[in-house]
Amino acid sequence: MLSVSKIDCEKNVNLKKLCSIKIGGTAKKVFFPKDIQDILTIYNESKERNRKLVLIGLGSNVIFKDGILEYMFVSMRKLKGINIWEKGDNVYIKANAGVSFKEITKIVKDMNLGGFENLAGIPATVGGAVTMNAGAFGKEISDLVESVEWIDGNGEIVESSRDEISFDYRYSQFQKGGIVVSAVFRLYKADYNVGEKIKNIILERNKKQPLDLPTSGSTYKNQENLPAGYLLEKVGLKGYRVGEIGFSEKHANFLVNYGNAKFSDLIKLLQYAESKVKEEYNITLEREVRIID
Ligand SMILES: Cc1cc2nc3c(=O)[nH]c(=O)nc-3n(C[C@H](O)[C@H](O)[C@H](O)COP(=O)(O)OP(=O)(O)OC[C@H]3O[C@@H](n4cnc5c(N)ncnc54)[C@H](O)[C@@H]3O)c2cc1C
Repeated sequence: MLSVSKIDCEKNVNLKKLCSIKIGGTAKKVFFPKDIQDILTIYNESKERNRKLVLIGLGSNVIFKDGILEYMFVSMRKLKGINIWEKGDNVYIKANAGVSFKEITKIVKDMNLGGFENLAGIPATVGGAVTMNAGAFGKEISDLVESVEWIDGNGEIVESSRDEISFDYRYSQFQKGGIVVSAVFRLYKADYNVGEKIKNIILERNKKQPLDLPTSGSTYKNQENLPAGYLLEKVGLKGYRVGEIGFSEKHANFLVNYGNAKFSDLIKLLQYAESKVKEEYNITLEREVRIID
């Protein structure tokens, strides 16, 4: 069996560097696989040593606890590679898990491909976006997915078509297990200016989101017809802080780190928000952020 010793790895990594909200302690080891063989090797090692694997894309939706974390962390950022082909009016992009939405945005602008515009500006890798079923302005990544290549719980490489994968609002089956290795997206040759549309989408995003402070995006999933931000604002939590973590004054559903926020304060804030909304609206808020504790 191949050994993980040949795979790029960093020791004693400050987890603040691997997530956008910049909270977290130290990871004993972080692996940086460059191809599917590296991932299989890491996967087998985790099974053999009975260690939990924690996958990280850009870290835009994850929050790590403080202290020393012993999990096997795997940053997918170096798993790059893109293939593009045409069939009729459609253009297909196959992208490996570590390809960022920034890279895809550049391609769709350069080639004037339609379908992806509303998702431009979401800070994500392909693997993280498929896992979270990231979406914006009424469009979700699952709308574009043709197929996903992933590693299942037996360490087998599986290719599943869109219909075989369970997706829902900010949910995919990969949140319960499996490693997304690559995905194929179906786009089309547009007869309008894609770059112009993307520019407007990004302007719209920038107006609403607090991008001047470290954040992890939406904290809670929206409830049917009731945005989580609305509920948080109604219970008086817009701009509310515990220590150096708070709900943004610009967008109540965005957590922001005002400096050196502590994980314990963040948990206190989430528990307080959840109890307030339950008390006043009898609604159980569902966390969108992925807490690694
Ligand atoms: C400023 C800001 C704006 C945002 N706006 C939006 C928005 O408009 N819409 C939206 O939906 N989200 C938004 N988000 C949240 C975030 O960008 C998305 O959830 C994104 O899909 C996360 O991608 P990532 O690569 O950073 O994944 P990460 O945050 O690194 O990981 C997310 C989850 O996926 C898992 N994961 C990562 N890679 C893999 C893989 N290859 N295989 C299996 N599991 C994997 C992780 O373990 C974790 O559970 C925003 C976040 C920020 C900070």
